[in-house]
Amino acid sequence: MAIAPGAKCEACGEPGRVERFLQLTDVVVDRCGRCWFVFLGGERSVESESDLYQCDHFEGGWAEAFDGKAVVEEQVESASTMLKLGGAELRDYPPESAALDIGCARGHLLRALGSATGWQELAGIDVSPQMIEVGRREFGLDLRCGAVEEAELPRDHYQLITMFDVLEHLASPRAALVKLMSVLRPGGWLIIEVPSETTAFRVLTRWAFHVSGGRIRGPLQQLYHRNHLSYFTKASLKTLLGSVGAERVVVTTKEAHITRFGAHNYSPGKRAVIRAVCLLDRVLGTQAKLLVACRRPAGT
Ligand SMILES: [Zn+2]
Repeated sequence: MAIAPGAKCEACGEPGRVERFLQLTDVVVDRCGRCWFVFLGGERSVESESDLYQCDHFEGGWAEAFDGKAVVEEQVESASTMLKLGGAELRDYPPESAALDIGCARGHLLRALGSATGWQELAGIDVSPQMIEVGRREFGLDLRCGAVEEAELPRDHYQLITMFDVLEHLASPRAALVKLMSVLRPGGWLIIEVPSETTAFRVLTRWAFHVSGGRIRGPLQQLYHRNHLSYFTKASLKTLLGSVGAERVVVTTKEAHITRFGAHNYSPGKRAVIRAVCLLDRVLGTQAKLLVACRRPAGT
């Protein structure tokens, strides 16, 4: 699969700087030579990406693999922490404030957010009709089915939008973020979590791939796969958010759920390796997830 001449970078918009980063068995991975935004090569569309997530993935063992309650409590804590870093306080907002969760699944995060804040307007959007249906029926939440890029949402409306583990799946992160900036109320905050491209584990697996002449590729193929189309560094994510008009962009790192809450799924030997790599990432400030807060400027 060749790189189209003059292809533009999704993050910084620079044309003609895209280069081949990795050639794996099932996917090719490209990178912008200017801002180091990493992404899967090839065609993509909102329809084909949405098709991958139509099912109710809570029925596929996810609920057994993770402590879902601990995950959403940690997400509420992450949102609160990031708002504080940006200069806002969750508890300062009045009860009539409105929140929107992108990739809301059954709405567990919205419920936890509602319990923590008392906010009355809690809306969610997800591409899975099955998960939306369960959330509406069991929790009575305002959940809507569809892709964020195409959804009809009220403009200038939400004080807070959350998007945990979603942006990396989208056909066009830029289109999604432009949409979200337009539905945020001026001065409203967007909280995003994505996997980080800059971790010790990723560096080690790429090193093993290259020094083995491409023979050690199993770990890399778990990291770069069809479901994740974009791989952000702190810098490339800041560049992208700045280019869609976000301000006060704050980025930190944190440990991934798969190791923090799902370590019991691994053998004792793998758990020891995971602990060692997580400790190294913590010391280096390169933990597996990027956690971001940014604001729509107040006067726009
Ligand atoms: Zn770029």
